[in-house]
Amino acid sequence: MTTTVQTFQNFIGGKWQAAREGRTFANYNPATGEVLGYFPLSSTADVDAAVASARQAFESWRLVPAPKRGQILFRVGELLSRHKEELARIMTREMGKVLKETRGDVQEGIDMAYYMAGEGRRLFGYTVPVELPNKSGMALRDPVGVVACITPWNFPIAIPTWKMFPALVAGNTIVLKPASDTPQSALRLVEILQEAGLPEGVVNLVCGSGQEVGEALIHHPAVAVISFTGSTESGRHVAVEAAQSLKRVSLEMGGKNAVIVLDDADLELAVEGILWSAYGTTGQRCTACSRLIVQRGVHDHLLEKLLPRIEQLRLGDGLDEQVDVGPVINASQLEKIHAYVEIGQGEGATLVTGGACAEGEGLTSGNFYRPTLFKDVRPEMRIAQEEIFGPVLSVIAVDTFDEAIKVNNQTPFGLSSAIYTQNINNAQRAMRDLTTGILYINSGTTGAEIQLPFGGTRGTGNGHREAGIAGLDVFTEWKVVYTDYSGKLQKAQIDS
Ligand code: NAP
Repeated sequence: MTTTVQTFQNFIGGKWQAAREGRTFANYNPATGEVLGYFPLSSTADVDAAVASARQAFESWRLVPAPKRGQILFRVGELLSRHKEELARIMTREMGKVLKETRGDVQEGIDMAYYMAGEGRRLFGYTVPVELPNKSGMALRDPVGVVACITPWNFPIAIPTWKMFPALVAGNTIVLKPASDTPQSALRLVEILQEAGLPEGVVNLVCGSGQEVGEALIHHPAVAVISFTGSTESGRHVAVEAAQSLKRVSLEMGGKNAVIVLDDADLELAVEGILWSAYGTTGQRCTACSRLIVQRGVHDHLLEKLLPRIEQLRLGDGLDEQVDVGPVINASQLEKIHAYVEIGQGEGATLVTGGACAEGEGLTSGNFYRPTLFKDVRPEMRIAQEEIFGPVLSVIAVDTFDEAIKVNNQTPFGLSSAIYTQNINNAQRAMRDLTTGILYINSGTTGAEIQLPFGGTRGTGNGHREAGIAGLDVFTEWKVVYTDYSGKLQKAQIDS
């Protein structure tokens, strides 16, 4: 029996359409190698059409009252809830993480939809007293225009929603370019936005490569904002190129996140947090823990507890509810992970477990890598400094809390850190001295909630934050309005 593989289309100006040059690319299931669909391999011409449609739609969308925009997002939240299981299964087939995690990914989108629906009735600006009589002053949030959202494959629903929903409630219009490894999840999300009643042209979807579609968006004169999530290497390129036309650019990039375990920690609790943070999503989270900084007093004891748990993790197709760890996204990422393992061994770190592709029943057709643990890692080693983005954890032993803080802070990234301690003074010091954008006390490095700002320092970001109220900032322009009702010319700083 032959099954037909579906061919999908772009969404531009409210219509589904093939790429103008008629090209397509195949997308594969990383757990099985099966072709999931053919997607438009778009060109600059498709980007031009999508941006023109978004630009035109902006003129009417910006005038729709924000509470009405919020109502549409509320409906999006309802539809995402209704289709949660279907979306989770599409995502697991596309990028491999286990179903309980893809359900969580959709839940982030649902949470963001309801949160931003509420912003439709807030979008707070502010008023302040002014120095002259019979005069008022206020600051309002204006939309900026066409927003290009360029997204990665590891959170195929959540990340587009983190960008699109605040942008939309503020009155902007969108061109979404999803990662080439996860176009179908984005496509289904856009169908849901359409079903919820978004007017034509407000959201457009263009599939295709970063080199062609991404570049065309970065350089398009009518794109006002680029909201990018991906690697630090690509993000730096986006920032440099977009600077030529002074576009606003928000960058969410890589991480080298650490769990710190002090001598006074609850080790049972720490083991659970480390396992989840290091090997959940197969280590392919921007917030994944890839460094374990352990005080020497508990080092050996912690590893004794951790090692069997790592070796018990079940690998397989994420659609199987019994599986703990799914595949790596693609063959080139698998090669990159293994290359880092060889680098680690070459640098003198001790490979404790893993360090090879996984073999066995159900694993031969997919990109599976064994959960890996290194010990005797020094902070300056490449495996302790560079983002690997896979199931590889490096253990660094330290003598003191001061040394742990120093090691934590000395990487080119600054996204998420975690500390396990039962001592309130240590916890308070960690809050003050760890220089990451997110800190967890007595929990792992992953698990952000949408009502608080998300992002990091150094090579992780460029100062913007997603989510929470801070997530509105890049999508709005402050406009200040003074009204003088004195009936005469009053000069600020001169007549006051
Ligand atoms: P990536 O290779 O940088 O790709 C991200 C997106 O950028 C994709 O849509 C990609 O398109 C596009 N792109 C690539 N080159 C481009 C170019 N020259 N111009 C414009 N767009 C371009 O990253 P990834 O492998 O998908 O994602 C993993 C990375 O994302 C990790 O570093 C991870 O830490 C980071 N991440 C960060 C956060 C955060 O919030 N800080 C969250 C999640 C992930 P193609 O897919 O077509 O190549």
